[in-house]
Amino acid sequence: MARKGPPRRLAQAKLPTPFAVFDMAVYQTEDGKEHLAISIGDLGGLPPLVRIHSECLTGDALFSLRCDCGFQLEHSLQRIATEGRGLVLYLRQEGRGIGLANKIRAYALQDQGHDTVEANETLGFPADARDYSLALDMLFDLDLRRVRLMTNNPRKVDALQSGGVEVVERVPIVCGRNPHNETYLTTKADKLGHILNPLPAASRANSAAPPDSPGSPDSPDAGDS
Ligand SMILES: [Zn+2]
Repeated sequence: MARKGPPRRLAQAKLPTPFAVFDMAVYQTEDGKEHLAISIGDLGGLPPLVRIHSECLTGDALFSLRCDCGFQLEHSLQRIATEGRGLVLYLRQEGRGIGLANKIRAYALQDQGHDTVEANETLGFPADARDYSLALDMLFDLDLRRVRLMTNNPRKVDALQSGGVEVVERVPIVCGRNPHNETYLTTKADKLGHILNPLPAASRANSAAPPDSPGSPDSPDAGDS
């Protein structure tokens, strides 16, 4: 996971999608990994919607129902397209930072009855090895110091706040629950502190909240990788 120095912006172009035409920029870190900033509209002024999404090949590209990543990515792009403004940072830290092969090894352990946290620990990894300093570097490069963060993961909010980016609102992501990931999402809520259990207030965050209402840290929703 060693990563030295800030990422360099290498290339940018349009990204047409079914939801909108986004701008995408490739950033490279010194470890050779390439990450994406996918944005739409002018990000200056009022804090924009931001999603920090960690790569999940199986969920994002292969429609896996074992997790909720692909659903969250699609929902985030759609939501940003609807608002006409916002940013998805797509970080290449597969499997909560342990890599694809290890994630699949962890899946095999889960098939034998371990939960996602136990499986990682059995393989000798922390439950969550993701590093959000890269996201901070990219946000700084984009001149973003105040954001409305789409996440169910309070650790992401804390990581940004302690790194100097103010999260003026936490916008829950309610999507992607299915019988295949029910246990996984419940484990993320119980062991990783993700905020679960939709409540009626969930829809409130879907309308534009005042930028200085700090979202509701205990407001509702489903999982978040
Ligand atoms: Zn996933």
